[in-house]
Amino acid sequence: MAEEPGTAPGSGSRTVKECEDMIRRSLRTPMVRFLRENLEKAGCGVSENFFKAVNCDKSIAGGYVRGKGIMVCSNHMNIQDDVNQVMAHELIHAYDDCQAANLDWADCAHHACSEIRAGHLSGDCHYKRELLRGYIKLRGHEQECVRRRVMKSVIANPHCSEAAARDAMEAVWDVCYNDTRPFDRAP
Ligand SMILES: [Zn+2]
Repeated sequence: MAEEPGTAPGSGSRTVKECEDMIRRSLRTPMVRFLRENLEKAGCGVSENFFKAVNCDKSIAGGYVRGKGIMVCSNHMNIQDDVNQVMAHELIHAYDDCQAANLDWADCAHHACSEIRAGHLSGDCHYKRELLRGYIKLRGHEQECVRRRVMKSVIANPHCSEAAARDAMEAVWDVCYNDTRPFDRAP
């Protein structure tokens, strides 16, 4: 599932080679390790070549595709933290794909649920990242930020109109926002 860039578009550009090194480094960070371990515990272990650095035409930071793996858009990465964030976000999608028996990415509610979880649990909306993006409202910022990013991702789903995306997000918000698996609570 495609993601909007983590920082302002055009703020960073790495070569594929540099990005590959950053992916390897991210695999040693506690968050990415924890998610990868839980993916394995859930019966969906992945090797290092599950993660790919690619140049992306579209204005996205990365994505997860069932059966293919996780891609990180090297040309939209700047610092190590950008890569760590994309890796954590996409690993939550991979985890949902593994855990949920009948997850249908064409279903706007299913897609919205995984985006809510990935946005909430990956730290996408940590206030420091929001400040970098130029959003400075702090009160209630986290949920607002998750909502904004869920909408962007679900609208990009060819099966979901803007209205369908909004309805789906509202319908599943409470259940999915409070579903923090594999964490005990939101990190
Ligand atoms: Zn996503």
